Amino acid sequence: MSESSLVITPQWNSPKHIVAYTSTRQGGVSTGDLDGLNVGAHVGDDLLLVKANRALLPYHEKLSWLEQVHSNKVVVLPSADTTADAAYSSSSACFCAVMTADCVPILLCDNEGKEVAAVHGGWKGLESGVIANTISQFNAAPSSIMAWIGPAICQRCYEVDQHLAEVFVAYPDALLKSSSTGKFLLDLPAIAKAQLVALGLTDVVSSNLCTYCEQEQFYSHRLATHRGKRATGRIVSVIGITER
Ligand SMILES: [Zn+2]
Repeated sequence: MSESSLVITPQWNSPKHIVAYTSTRQGGVSTGDLDGLNVGAHVGDDLLLVKANRALLPYHEKLSWLEQVHSNKVVVLPSADTTADAAYSSSSACFCAVMTADCVPILLCDNEGKEVAAVHGGWKGLESGVIANTISQFNAAPSSIMAWIGPAICQRCYEVDQHLAEVFVAYPDALLKSSSTGKFLLDLPAIAKAQLVALGLTDVVSSNLCTYCEQEQFYSHRLATHRGKRATGRIVSVIGITER
């Protein structure tokens, strides 16, 4: 299988020496419920298969894998501490990587391509400021940083209860009443975009890809739950600086 089908790349105007992609679930060696290119080592998959899958990724030897815990913590690479939900790098030796399966992956890069970051934006991270914490690591002004919002669960597919809807009342455009009583449809990618714009970013591109709708292409935690599965795989979103 060609490399191009293993990953999708952002349609944005990043400098040529910036590498950015999100893996798909196509082309890997995992089997069963995790069938495909699962890169998550914490979802019950055979670790040898996860390792083989990760080795298929472009620049895999440079990726810094995190222990993601739905926090608002950012690490600056290289970092001995890997418990975090965002990574920042200004070094061509260390690429940022975040795993998702419905949560919002956000890739960031300054206009000159000297600084990059990747963010795992689940609802807890978005609520607690993981995006703001990541932007604050940049030396570049927010207006000089571009963002790409990768594949994540879309509003139509993300029904939540009132409690979770109330967490995001400050984002009325991201909330719709569901046809189910007392339920709402929450638009996590729209919340991520609103936060990026509020922080001063002007160049924010949305992939508009849904991990639940595009079942052949991605892993979806919510879809797996709806099908009674205990676990699903993970895709990874990566950004790094190559030598100029
Ligand atoms: Zn969807």
